[in-house]
Amino acid sequence: MIAKVIVDISASDVDRVFDYIAIDGAERGSRVLVPFGRQNIEGYVIGFAETSDVPQEKLKAIASVIDDRPIVSDEFLKLCDYMTARFHLRKIDVFRLFLPAKMRGGRIKSLEKNIISINTDYIDADPAQFIKKTAHSQAEVFEYVREVQSAEQSYLNANFSAAAVRNLLARGIFTARREKVLRTPYSGIVQKDSAVTLTDKQTEAVDTIMSSDRPTLLFGVTGSGKTEVYLSCIEKTLAENKTAIMLVPEISLTPQVMRVFRSRFGDEVALLHSGLSDGERFDEWHRLLTGQAHVAVGARSAVFAPLENVGLIVIDEEHDTSYSSESNPRYITRDVAFFRAEYNGAKVVMGSATPSMESFYAASNGKYVLAELPDRVNKRKMPDIEVINMCNEVMYGNSGMFSAKLVSALDECLSSGNQAILFLNRRGYSSFVMCKKCGYVAKCEDCDVSLVYHKDENVLKCHYCQRRYAMLDLCPQCKSSHIKQGFMGTERIAETVNKMFPSARVIRMDNDTTRTKDAHLKLLGDFASGNADILVGTQMVAKGHDFANVTLVGIIDADMSLHFSDFRAVERTFQLITQVAGRAGRESKSGRVILQTYTPGHYVYRYATAYDYRGFYGKEINLLQATGFPPFSEILRVLISSENEGTALDATKYAIDAIRAIAENHADEFTYLNAMRAPKKRIQTKYRMQILMRIKPDSFVRQKVYAVADELNDRFPQITCFTEINPNDLS
Ligand code: ADP
Ligand code: ZN
Ligand code: ZN
Repeated sequence: MIAKVIVDISASDVDRVFDYIAIDGAERGSRVLVPFGRQNIEGYVIGFAETSDVPQEKLKAIASVIDDRPIVSDEFLKLCDYMTARFHLRKIDVFRLFLPAKMRGGRIKSLEKNIISINTDYIDADPAQFIKKTAHSQAEVFEYVREVQSAEQSYLNANFSAAAVRNLLARGIFTARREKVLRTPYSGIVQKDSAVTLTDKQTEAVDTIMSSDRPTLLFGVTGSGKTEVYLSCIEKTLAENKTAIMLVPEISLTPQVMRVFRSRFGDEVALLHSGLSDGERFDEWHRLLTGQAHVAVGARSAVFAPLENVGLIVIDEEHDTSYSSESNPRYITRDVAFFRAEYNGAKVVMGSATPSMESFYAASNGKYVLAELPDRVNKRKMPDIEVINMCNEVMYGNSGMFSAKLVSALDECLSSGNQAILFLNRRGYSSFVMCKKCGYVAKCEDCDVSLVYHKDENVLKCHYCQRRYAMLDLCPQCKSSHIKQGFMGTERIAETVNKMFPSARVIRMDNDTTRTKDAHLKLLGDFASGNADILVGTQMVAKGHDFANVTLVGIIDADMSLHFSDFRAVERTFQLITQVAGRAGRESKSGRVILQTYTPGHYVYRYATAYDYRGFYGKEINLLQATGFPPFSEILRVLISSENEGTALDATKYAIDAIRAIAENHADEFTYLNAMRAPKKRIQTKYRMQILMRIKPDSFVRQKVYAVADELNDRFPQITCFTEINPNDLS
């Protein structure tokens, strides 16, 4: 019998199925060791065949089977096929998503302990018969184990004498057995919370989710009790003897969230997230695999939880960008969730206070079912958002980053002993160009997205079509020379605040201060426990903790994300404002939000301050339709990079010619196609080129483009080439 094996090497030239002679114990889905070149490497059996095209004398046998059971189920084998086809991935890169990273290569295993007990022949005997009078340690440890019946060897070694334990073991008086020990995060929390009584709206939402044969979009304002709806759906799913997966953005996977799940579901729940130790991660994963836990809670990668009979998949904060993987292997979590739901006949619910345009559009045209929670559970109203026109500040001679209003509000907040959050709406590296006097922003005439200033060439560029524009000296609208370019960082804001309020304790939270594992949780925890007065931060502060004493939220430069060169820039801005405003006045204190902008007339501020999601959606979806962006098209990007600039150029030339030929035959499927340097022209010594296209959503030409990418990899071995669907970041 021939076993079909995928080997654990991530390279295009071995991204195929290899034939080996099958051995006993190797099943479909088994992890195996196979001879490859001069050594044995790991691989996965994906199937069997009677015969092989490889000559008999060249065929080698599988060396060994690694685990005591197949670890890739039929569902995951099919999911691998689906993902490789949809996202154009290597099989092995997909397989690697299915197991905890450190499990590969045997770097982590189950933790086992030696449990000592007394050989039954000796239990009722008189120890004087076999323990010498002088061997006090042996007598002590013998008596102890006789009393407790069994104990961990490490405990006995530490509390009695290791030599005595060894001696009794060697003489067969003690026996030892290996027992698996689970490393369980947050295991201290075991008491079960009783569920709250759901409101009528919540009950209605649960019924909709559990009875719908389509995915449900749960549209509920912040504080409307979405979490209780998820918990109730999970309970119902467990009651049907099915399993559940709950996905949350990594950044909001706080200890609070985990406690909620542990206290409601106890050991039924396994937590998967990057803050766990490798051992904990492995054990939690293993508990899911072996059916000891039935609920997986985690970030994006928990969608691959090794559960069988999945009855429910929850995607909380469905609009969050972290659900798209932006490094290899690139995949869209929702698509994987839909695949698993289809395979298992499971329900899917996606929740948000600010659903993505794509999802609300799908809910409007019947692809999803809509469930709504329009009110907050505690009936508290949303904080008022005041919009400050920063152009006026400039006119009155204040060219700093804080408006007079924000300074006085900060002063008031601090002197009354409350806390404030200063939020910087920053995304990515790019910088737009804006007139500080009238708020004019340079935009692409063709694409209506903001232009990006490229300092090295002193030009403005559109990242969607690569059209170039001269850098501005004067504002074309008001002729002012107050042109603002570049971005300010959280560091500068924190410094300025420190100068203005020397006695205030300031915490800064951004990519720089949260590099280490759990750093963001620690900073948020410090702030929550009152160890600081002001939290200055980026997107990271927008989610997660509830802060009872925060009465002021300042949005320093709301335009930053608004004019990011991204067709979703306005949508992201609306989401961020809604989310960050939700941080003010969560508990009994009422909150206030001050939003600073140079373009106060922009429609996003009108809708955001009125908390009018539907109004915003209506306006935005029309614009997306008019400009032909997703969900009305699909953006496909082929990125080609190489150490050698000439090779990258040659490969790109080859690819664009091939794709142009496709476009000529299927003109209806393409609305845009061009090749260009990537906005980040060189990363880590590699030159980067890209081919951008907009095609009909889910068009068959996507596969044709993938085929071109495969051909490229064959023809130009010195390049790397990957493809992306609707990328969040076109850098
Ligand atoms: P969301 O996820 O929609 O922002 P949460 O699920 O965090 O809202 O709920 C907000 C608050 O309301 C939480 O403190 C939660 O415990 C509470 N809550 C939710 N549902 C109920 C209910 N039916 N009865 C009482 N309190 C509730
Ligand atoms: Zn101007
Ligand atoms: Zn353009």
